[in-house]
Amino acid sequence: MSSLNIAIVGAGIGGLCAAIALRTAGHQVTVYEQAKAFMRVGADINLTPNAVRALDGLGVAAGVRRSAARPTHRISRTWDSGEETSRLPMGDEAERLYGAPQLTIHRADLLAALAEAFPLEHIHFGKRLARAEPLGSGGVSLQFTDGSETAADVVVGADGIHSAVRTAMFGAEQPRFTGVVAYRAVVPATRLAHVPNLQAFTKWWGPEAHSQIVTFPLNQGKDIFIFSTTAQASWHLESWTTQGDVDELRAAYQGFHPDALALLEACDEVLKTALYERDPLPSWVSGSCVLLGDACHPMMPFMAQGAGQAIEDAVVLARCLAAAEEPAAVQAALLAYEAARLPRTSQIQIGSRGNQWLKAGGNADWVYGYDAWTVSAA
Ligand code: FAD
Repeated sequence: MSSLNIAIVGAGIGGLCAAIALRTAGHQVTVYEQAKAFMRVGADINLTPNAVRALDGLGVAAGVRRSAARPTHRISRTWDSGEETSRLPMGDEAERLYGAPQLTIHRADLLAALAEAFPLEHIHFGKRLARAEPLGSGGVSLQFTDGSETAADVVVGADGIHSAVRTAMFGAEQPRFTGVVAYRAVVPATRLAHVPNLQAFTKWWGPEAHSQIVTFPLNQGKDIFIFSTTAQASWHLESWTTQGDVDELRAAYQGFHPDALALLEACDEVLKTALYERDPLPSWVSGSCVLLGDACHPMMPFMAQGAGQAIEDAVVLARCLAAAEEPAAVQAALLAYEAARLPRTSQIQIGSRGNQWLKAGGNADWVYGYDAWTVSAA
């Protein structure tokens, strides 16, 4: 089989998973990333069993488990009385049910585990895509802001919520500010020893639609991640590194149960970002360009599926392109990928926006039981 020359724009979670999967499928893959190097920024990621199973098939299971924690349960509690409204066993039980556990990990550690599985010399840093244009021959020309150019048979836009590839394919359209901000903090577990269920994923459901506190273990349980959201229409800054105000954080959750407040009390510092999203996109393919991850389905974090869906996309895209050589077969493969993935990610995007996931019931099978390696993608 003659391989395709595939350019991936973006070395985030989705881009690196696609790079590993497409290279394993026999293609020549080059990744173009705007950052100068991998940097330790980003949120701590809750990888649900569907995401972990997709990752395991990429051959990165050991690397991902090196620093990850393995939450014992997924619990919902009401903000004031603390009553448990849902409790799913995770860990071994998730592994038995879904073939993989839930893992919680810093985004940078996940990127490091993925980067180990792909040759560094095929990742070009400091390459910010400016334009992508179809070539008469059927391929795509890529132009970068440093003036350099390249061409590829297929371009994968894995360049996140502000995707330049998406703009080149479908025109400019800005993501929408949701009116919601997120706070993030990491605290040593020893400082929270008095809080119950510390090694579980717990979500405290607040009185307003987007008022919530989530906590889960990190670094094999040595640290505890605290993530909270609340409405704040005046704050528009989208950032992985901007410091928030700890007093403002605590003030936003007055009246919450003492177990939840104890989490906030333990925070010395906190990061703050505005949350943006988009509506489901009707098509992910234009000519030889295709999108995955946040480039085509950025979503609210309320089902913890943004990265998981990007990982699933990468696996299914590589499966669809595995045997494609001729332009007609490549087109068919890209459309098969879109058909296999778009309904699921749209449902999850809309579900995340509604923020009711596992609030009071407990069946997570349609999300956690999905297997990107075997799902029909003809
Ligand atoms: P990104 O991670 O955004 O990567 C895009 C890459 O493309 C970046 O490296 C960027 O530098 C590069 N790039 C961008 N533009 C260009 C360009 N023009 N040229 C070249 N390179 C470019 N998901 C979960 O599954 N679980 C969670 O618990 C979770 N929690 C979250 C919490 C918060 C607060 C937020 C905001 C998101 C959360 N997510 C979570 C979502 C998750 O972070 C994203 O869905 C995921 O990172 C998307 O991966 P991606 O590879 O598609 O895009």
